[in-house]
Amino acid sequence: MIAGKRIKLAAMVSSMLFAGMSWAGAAPGASMDPVPCETQTSRACQDIKTPQAVLARLQAGNKRFVKGTTLQRDLQKQSKKTAPGQFPLASVVSCFDSRIPPEIVFDQGIGDIFIARNAGNVITDDVLGSLEFGSKAAGAKLIVVMGHTDCGAIKGACDNVELGNLTGLLAKIKPAISKIPDDGKGRSSKNPAFVDMVGEQNVRLGVQTIRDKSPILKEMEDKGQIMIVGAMYDLKTGKVSFYDLPDSVSAKPKKI
Ligand SMILES: [Zn+2]
Repeated sequence: MIAGKRIKLAAMVSSMLFAGMSWAGAAPGASMDPVPCETQTSRACQDIKTPQAVLARLQAGNKRFVKGTTLQRDLQKQSKKTAPGQFPLASVVSCFDSRIPPEIVFDQGIGDIFIARNAGNVITDDVLGSLEFGSKAAGAKLIVVMGHTDCGAIKGACDNVELGNLTGLLAKIKPAISKIPDDGKGRSSKNPAFVDMVGEQNVRLGVQTIRDKSPILKEMEDKGQIMIVGAMYDLKTGKVSFYDLPDSVSAKPKKI
């Protein structure tokens, strides 16, 4: 990175994240904050976590969500504590669907994760830019592209729905449709299995798009600084299934 770009990036980070603090600075007293990482992120908390540990944290949070044992959080208190700066652990790209708020299904609090959402969790250039900011500038160590079962956007793409500006967004899902072989039961929204296969393929292509179109994030992944993973959320169970995880990740979620 050339010096000019570095200065520009630092200036942006300073204005967007730290509101008057320096890049290396922290909120007064932040380093002494005794609030545990489980409920509140901090620079110290972000620094000690590996991408694998962040994934395990989200897996554990989703497990609590499914079991109905989510943590009690004082959101007002978290809001005030995160006002001076943010130290998110992960970025999640998810669908616009109202039933999948990532903070809730991963049982995370204010300041814990970045979220980028659109119909069909499509990796647009603007989403890519947001992800680059999230990891390169703000330190998020995990990127999750999360689709879901019975997705309306996927159904719309399968059915060639046209509606104003939505038409262009749904067109970006069509490469996933063309990769799914015909199962003889139709290639429209009337075939739920086909819809979910397209949804999963759309996630896989999203993960690949990040690697292909963002040299910044690809390099961070290659160096082990971040992980980029795909996931599907099951509307009926609330469970998030991750897939194509690197060998470095334990198959069994750990409690973090
Ligand atoms: Zn959806």
